[in-house]
Amino acid sequence: MQPYYTAAILGGLFLLLFVWEHRAPLRTARAALARRLFVNVGISALALGTAALIVDPVGATTLQYVSDRGFGLLHWVELPAAAQFVIGFVLMDMAFYYWHFANHRIPLLWRLHNVHHIDPDLDVSTAFRFHLGEVALSAGFRVVQIAVIGVSPLTFAIYELVYQANTLFHHSNVHLPLPVERLLNKLLVTPRMHGIHHSEVWRENNSNYSVVFPWWDRLHRTLRLNIPQSRIVIGIPGYAADADNKLGSALLMPFKRQRNYWQRADGISVKRNQVIIEGPLRCMQE
Ligand SMILES: [Zn+2]
Repeated sequence: MQPYYTAAILGGLFLLLFVWEHRAPLRTARAALARRLFVNVGISALALGTAALIVDPVGATTLQYVSDRGFGLLHWVELPAAAQFVIGFVLMDMAFYYWHFANHRIPLLWRLHNVHHIDPDLDVSTAFRFHLGEVALSAGFRVVQIAVIGVSPLTFAIYELVYQANTLFHHSNVHLPLPVERLLNKLLVTPRMHGIHHSEVWRENNSNYSVVFPWWDRLHRTLRLNIPQSRIVIGIPGYAADADNKLGSALLMPFKRQRNYWQRADGISVKRNQVIIEGPLRCMQE
């Protein structure tokens, strides 16, 4: 697919979600939008530039190598084209679950991924707000992902578009009626599900890692849906000061001595009282 069409589809979706989330917001914003937009656009521009300069060429070279040499799992058995596509698509998404999990659990990666999580609100402008260092390191993951799966260039291009579109959607702050979102969440990661991943509570931050299909969290027992959005504070307690979410300080943050992420400036560790968690773990709340 031409990059021109992809950019037009994603740009259109961004605008639609941006208008929608301000007309019907899911969570109440805490910070001033204009200031956040400035920071998010700055960090995202560097992320997209790094992706275009490093990740995309590395991905394209690996795809070429894999299809020329018949490398990877999908070349081990003869499969009809449709089955190749479905399995390739699903495995690409599963791989992203592991990459996101690693970004939370490996301290070096978390230093960088933390920059995405310290945004004090969550909306469509957070979607591509990743530190350029995280994006650059993801090129290494891309090589392994493409080579192990042996995905075809067409499946890769279609998966990439769906991946980016759903990243915009699940970061957005659009309020969907609960029954609609519960139904949609059988197939896709949705805003309420990903909102819990951006909670300031460690246990909630370390759940809901999936990107497109929510099944990976079910499979790995990292799914948590029973937190009402009105009870969620977005962000990372140790980096919740206004000064932390500035363009310069956010970009330099991974290279500085790290604070206790889960403790507020007043020394209090953020935990959620079990009593106020509502309903069964896997039941999405308002
Ligand atoms: Zn994360």
